[in-house]
Amino acid sequence: MLLEVKNMHIAYGDIRAVSGIDFSIEQGELVSIIGANGAGKTSILNSIMGIVPLKNGKIVFENEDITSLAAHQRARAGIRMVPERARVFPRLTVYENLMTGVYGLRKTINLDVQIAWLYDLFPILRERNDQPAETLSGGEQQQLAIARALISNPSLLLVDEVSMGLMPKLVDQVFDVLKQLNDQRGLTILIVEQNAIASLEISHRAYVLETGAIVHQGMASALLEDPKIKEVYLGTGA
Ligand code: ATP
Repeated sequence: MLLEVKNMHIAYGDIRAVSGIDFSIEQGELVSIIGANGAGKTSILNSIMGIVPLKNGKIVFENEDITSLAAHQRARAGIRMVPERARVFPRLTVYENLMTGVYGLRKTINLDVQIAWLYDLFPILRERNDQPAETLSGGEQQQLAIARALISNPSLLLVDEVSMGLMPKLVDQVFDVLKQLNDQRGLTILIVEQNAIASLEISHRAYVLETGAIVHQGMASALLEDPKIKEVYLGTGA
């Protein structure tokens, strides 16, 4: 297993956000956690990244217990996150934003090769190289956030609600890129999403999260066909 999460509890004061969930991701998998507003999706990613502490439980990454590591140590270990609503640095240029993705990196990467690869993946970023990120559209900022996360060649990419605020066509494009990264480069990806259909369509497996608990799990293709799931989460039930 690349990532194993055991008995994860997350709370903010008295508010329980995640109540003892278990899940795991194998090397090379694309896994989704789907759930409604407030189900606890962002909390899960933030706690894997080390931004939000666990109240209880354990996170094992590449067979190492990382539960007590700081966020920058987890980033160095190869975990990167695309945060909700992109969160790029508005005043920095596209290029400078990308450079923040390599800050503090210990392993050597060939920057020219990485940038060329990312600009081929997201051609609009090449055109906008010298522009402040705040001048980009929402979809372009989302692409920049993905590129910034990818520049260091992570072994696990965490993607928070990437479809939020994007037009359906852009949602498809972004999900296509994630699928391509998984298929062609073997990148392991964990997506958390309200957009259940789009994320299930590209995932191998998925977990369904409801108020901080996992209520279903299985192959994404099976979940897409499950009548109960269809009715509640996909809005396509009979
Ligand atoms: P969304 O899709 O709306 O982002 P989510 O599934 O990502 O929702 P979380 O953001 O993880 O859900 O929130 C889970 C629960 O924890 C919610 O009830 C939320 O109000 C609460 N919560 C999240 N962050 C905090 C915080 N910093 N302080 C207090 N409560 C919080």
